[in-house]
Amino acid sequence: MKTGLSHLFIPGPTNVPETVRRAMNVPMQDHRAPDFGDLTASIFADLKTVYGTTKGRVALFPGSGTGCWEAAITNTLNPGDKVLMARHGQFSHLWAEMAKRLGLEVHLIDLPWGAGAPVKEFARILGADRHGEIKAVFVTHNETATGVTSDVAGVRKALDDALHDALLFVDGVSSIGSIPFRMDDWGVDLAVTGSQKGLMSPAGLGMLAVSPKALKAMESSTMHRAFFDLADMLRAHDGGSFPYTPPVPLLHGVKAALTRMMEEGLPNIHARHKRLASGVRRAVAAWGLDLCAEHPTLYSDTVTAVRVPEGVDAREVIRIAYERYNCSLGSGLGPLNGKVFRIGHLGDLNEGMCLTAISIAEMALVEAGARIKLGSGVAAAQEVYLMRPATPELRL
Ligand code: PLP
Repeated sequence: MKTGLSHLFIPGPTNVPETVRRAMNVPMQDHRAPDFGDLTASIFADLKTVYGTTKGRVALFPGSGTGCWEAAITNTLNPGDKVLMARHGQFSHLWAEMAKRLGLEVHLIDLPWGAGAPVKEFARILGADRHGEIKAVFVTHNETATGVTSDVAGVRKALDDALHDALLFVDGVSSIGSIPFRMDDWGVDLAVTGSQKGLMSPAGLGMLAVSPKALKAMESSTMHRAFFDLADMLRAHDGGSFPYTPPVPLLHGVKAALTRMMEEGLPNIHARHKRLASGVRRAVAAWGLDLCAEHPTLYSDTVTAVRVPEGVDAREVIRIAYERYNCSLGSGLGPLNGKVFRIGHLGDLNEGMCLTAISIAEMALVEAGARIKLGSGVAAAQEVYLMRPATPELRL
């Protein structure tokens, strides 16, 4: 029998705060009642703040991030459209596969898993696309599989420098709400996220924010869509509702989570994620292990993917952490399976929780055969997290 708390350090679903869990314990209510908009109004408003948009609109689809990938594509593009993407991790891979399945012509740039979006290569290709054949550029802002954050503003600049009119699609599933995301400033046209990561709620809602330009593209898009029809959804949202039955308790949860986020303040949330992530990275450095991310400019503040040493199987590290220490760590996805384990550090999290994750990962690594010094990672992270008293008086 497992006793005590279970520790969840996967990069989503993340820990759901008690206030959010309680907020979901509601009697069912009529989603067609005239006052249903009282529930959704603040969700739409706060989500726009989280996305960094005043110009755009936000739609909530029952489903998940994957559903909103599909909604973004089928509501704005046309069959056979050429789109530019890079594959550098499991999620950019899956989005590219979806685009192909939906009948788009995908110009796919294959990169090592650990690289970021290839801004220079995108710029070159967009510059050479004299006839505007490329209709959209897709960027995975935070590649959760590798712990890599890409430069969305850089891709915007590449589009602008090339005077290119393509839509900019961004997957912000593991970034939005945790690290800075500036939809309007970066000229993002379609941005996808889900309820279960930075928004600290259970899975079950996908969010899609769209720019005025994307809304215009929607008018001439001929791809098939039904459940994920954005026009239907936005029309219903105008009245505070949904075109079909929404997951009402989850809406209460997301509302509470957003209220909490507004109270903490986005700059504080971003700073907290940076501090917690720095501690985790310092621990990995102290172990003498490498990150999957190729370069410090790419390091993600929401998830760290750690390469295990030669001769150690990352699956063993994850199994030991789970079976012996009641702690879920993220697995290596696709070709990284067995080579990488991931520590998710996003959402409702603090220093003590990160130290727990580091301490358990350290023990699991040692038990799986890694030659690292027990306590080395914990001590390194403590140095980052320690609030050193500023004045002697404060020491008392
Ligand atoms: N994109 C990224 C970057 C993700 O991390 C995930 C899930 O982890 C997805 C997309 C898929 O989202 P969902 O599982 O909500 O469908």
